[in-house]
Amino acid sequence: MRTEVAIVGAGPAGLLLSHLLAQDGVESVVIETRSREYVESRIRAGILESSTVELLDAVGLGERLHAIGDQHRGIYLQWPGERHHLDFVDLAGRSVWVYGQTEVTRDLGRARDAAGQELIYEVTETAVHDVETAHPYVTFVDADGNDVRLDADVVVGCDGSFGPSRSAIPDQAKQTWERTYPYSWLGILADVAPSTDELIYAWHPDGFALHSMRSAAVSRFYLQVEPGADINTWSDDRIWSELAVRLGHGQDGWELTPGPITDKSVLPMRSFVSQPMRHGRLFLAGDAAHIVPPTGAKGLNLAVADVGLLAPALVALLRKRDSSLADAYSDTALRRVWRCTHFSWWMTTMLHTSGDPFDAQLQLSQLRWVCTSEAGARGLAENYAGLPIGF
Ligand SMILES: Cc1cc2nc3c(=O)[nH]c(=O)nc-3n(C[C@H](O)[C@H](O)[C@H](O)COP(=O)(O)OP(=O)(O)OC[C@H]3O[C@@H](n4cnc5c(N)ncnc54)[C@H](O)[C@@H]3O)c2cc1C
Repeated sequence: MRTEVAIVGAGPAGLLLSHLLAQDGVESVVIETRSREYVESRIRAGILESSTVELLDAVGLGERLHAIGDQHRGIYLQWPGERHHLDFVDLAGRSVWVYGQTEVTRDLGRARDAAGQELIYEVTETAVHDVETAHPYVTFVDADGNDVRLDADVVVGCDGSFGPSRSAIPDQAKQTWERTYPYSWLGILADVAPSTDELIYAWHPDGFALHSMRSAAVSRFYLQVEPGADINTWSDDRIWSELAVRLGHGQDGWELTPGPITDKSVLPMRSFVSQPMRHGRLFLAGDAAHIVPPTGAKGLNLAVADVGLLAPALVALLRKRDSSLADAYSDTALRRVWRCTHFSWWMTTMLHTSGDPFDAQLQLSQLRWVCTSEAGARGLAENYAGLPIGF
């Protein structure tokens, strides 16, 4: 097989990149190790920042988002006895949208179908070759067991944290940074209307809790738990009673309404950056190059921002033989990556309890400052609601 851009991974980064390239007449093939059903129902992120929404709108992918998504002006930050609203629209002139990654992935899949795009699911043994030459290629075994070689002008690794693309960059040509946090998130989905109009981020001596949502009928919650916590020790009753305590059920008349839990998972928390995001004819985008803890709601948005930069760079490279944007891609993308890495680390360390009483006092002081100083609130708002594409 031959194409112009071989894309490894059909997550949000890979599918959106393929869509953006097609808009400028650049052909791509996307290969994916999982089934389409699995990819489209994988419960992950759910908050879109303003620049993500603007990009999806601009490329004809905003219709369902505006029909069933929910626009939020800001978030609540709280600690025992106090809840404060930060209004991002007033503070930073931008809002965020609640729209699940499952929906984003479905929209992208449908758009690729409508364009007659080749998406190859359930491949195995993916390997990336000869990226330091002008003739890179990808090999894999398709769902029928056939060995396939896919030749391309460019290979893009959108294969998440554990895909093979990043390791095609030799160790001596890359540098990595990693921070593992001493806690995990227990995440649940519940068939119950949210007990809040906007997300609640709660600091509590027993650990962080987050009340998020996916729709008017589906709520999403997270609890800080021990790293690698055993999900079997978290019964539904235990989860709801812990959420009630940490989110302040009864505080100023606020009530948490429980409901049937439909999904439960434990998510480790880590920060990771690998640079450069380009090596020869191989480019990396999204989780393939960087991971953030989800406290700042940045993972999906960063993946979108990467491909928002990469698509025009590849179009210029392949159509005009102009390599300037492609040469600048890694440095430009990494500026935003590091900004979001810092913001995600900052939100995480401000809100998760470590068990150290000194840390707790610093966290409470920081929270009070963010909620009472306009400068503090604006800093959080500007980062959370999202910096412009190309920042
Ligand atoms: C378990 C989990 C929960 C998360 N929860 C949240 C959350 O609550 N909030 C939040 O903001 N962010 C969350 N995130 C982060 C967010 O979902 C990611 O940042 C986002 O999915 C990044 O998109 P991506 O396309 O770069 O990578 P991915 O979505 O990971 O897509 C990569 C794709 O590559 C495929 N792939 C892997 N290996 C191969 C191979 N060898 N060959 C072909 N294809 C391959 C994978 O199957 C996958 O479909 C979560 C991430 C994970 C892993």
